[in-house]
Amino acid sequence: MNPAYERAADERVNYSKSIPFLLMHLAPFAAIWTGAKPIDWLVCFALYFARMFFITAGYHRYFSHRAYKLGRGMQLFMAVGGTMAAQKGPLWWASHHRHHHKFSDQPEDIHSPLRGLWWSHVGWILCNRYQDTDMERIKDFAKYPELRWLNRHYLVPPTVLALVLFAFGGWSMLLIGFFLSTVLTYHCTFFINSLTHLFGRRRYVTTDTSRNSFILAILTLGEGWHNNHHYYQSSVNQGFYWWEVDISYYIVKLFSWVGLASGLRGVPDHVRDGNKLKDGHLDVGMFDAHWAKAMSSLTTARKQTGQFASARLLALEEARRKALEELRTSTRAAAEKIAAMPIEATGDSIPPVA
Ligand SMILES: [Zn+2]
Ligand SMILES: [Zn+2]
Repeated sequence: MNPAYERAADERVNYSKSIPFLLMHLAPFAAIWTGAKPIDWLVCFALYFARMFFITAGYHRYFSHRAYKLGRGMQLFMAVGGTMAAQKGPLWWASHHRHHHKFSDQPEDIHSPLRGLWWSHVGWILCNRYQDTDMERIKDFAKYPELRWLNRHYLVPPTVLALVLFAFGGWSMLLIGFFLSTVLTYHCTFFINSLTHLFGRRRYVTTDTSRNSFILAILTLGEGWHNNHHYYQSSVNQGFYWWEVDISYYIVKLFSWVGLASGLRGVPDHVRDGNKLKDGHLDVGMFDAHWAKAMSSLTTARKQTGQFASARLLALEEARRKALEELRTSTRAAAEKIAAMPIEATGDSIPPVA
């Protein structure tokens, strides 16, 4: 692996702390003994749908990107709904997500697939390093005491949900209705960090490897339009054209019609129609990603031959690496100039705090 993307000592999966997470994956199999009723499957589907909505519309589009406005009561409602998915608190989730956008696919990016597919999917969540919330990055929401409480006691809502389901429908509802739907919500959410940076089509020039995928957009209620999203993060809709199905957006739109949400931010037409790869812009994000991979191969080759190579050969190799890096910087700068991306297309994802 490219040394810049290599993981530090505290970026190894902590298996003992991850036991509850692993057990949640095994729990649904116990339904072999309990059986499962149609109502259990119905609850599984409903809770998958509802919690995916709270994650995408709440944790992601509202708390991470402030793509629309909510009153304080609705804000708390969306936060509690999000914690039901057992993906930690809203401040933790949103602060890490803001970090991802700031450093997308750069060496600092916590969960870039350039650091490994498994790592980007789930490894980063299970290591010790990223357990705390970076309050500096989310101070616009950290000022609310109810959100700070929820962020600390993030296990309370999902535990209550599990107990209510158990009381209502017994073991089978707990195993299928709660655990199976929680695990499905986990992995479909995680796909956005892993698969949407690997599979699908790139429409826009972005400085990362994000892609658009119809299948993932259906599974995640609209989050599969990830290249659109990286291109213009502040928009509440991630599907930019009518055929790009975006269910979370439709629901937030419904909220706005009945006065539960306001200030929905869209994507301006000239931004939506500009900077497309099909118009001949150089794909800066993939250029960087291929470069990172090439550097990685070079490092591996060097490690393999290093023990046999003379000091002089190694010095020559180092000089070549420096020359390549200079070439990369100048090509990249030229490409960026040609692409001439408008400022509003990439920056300013989060409006200034009022
Ligand atoms: Zn985002
Ligand atoms: Zn991304």
